[in-house]
Amino acid sequence: TISMLVLDEAGNISGGCTTSGAAWKMHGRVGDSPIIGAGLFLDNEVGAAAATGLGEAVIRTAGSAMVVELMRQGKSPDEACKEIVERIYDKHKNHKDMEYLQVGFIAINKNGEYGGYSLRSGFNYAVYDEDKGNRMEDAQFKM
Ligand code: ASP
Repeated sequence: TISMLVLDEAGNISGGCTTSGAAWKMHGRVGDSPIIGAGLFLDNEVGAAAATGLGEAVIRTAGSAMVVELMRQGKSPDEACKEIVERIYDKHKNHKDMEYLQVGFIAINKNGEYGGYSLRSGFNYAVYDEDKGNRMEDAQFKM
């Protein structure tokens, strides 16, 4: 999945995402990316979030919407992403295919603070920032 979350100079937030879907997916499968609230969600009063990884797990938790709700309650983008990744982990930790599970989120809030968190290592994201320069960030991870 490739997602983009944008905070413009007027303080407005927008976002988008695209995906090839999961490898070996069944014909007709709908992943999380086209479902607002799952693979992508934003509230212009709070912030935005987007997901990558196993779409079914993200859909079951309304993952991106929950990240935004946690930011509304005062969590930082990093904290909010971490909490939902850990919720997904808790729901799947005894699953026989757990070793294949990867999920990750990125998020940004109205103040321009951003973060990312994933279940496993290897998830990074790019930041475009005219003031401080462009860079790659490694998401923190649980496992
Ligand atoms: N989230 C996508 C899906 O489940 C997979 C991906 O991250 O590319 O369809």
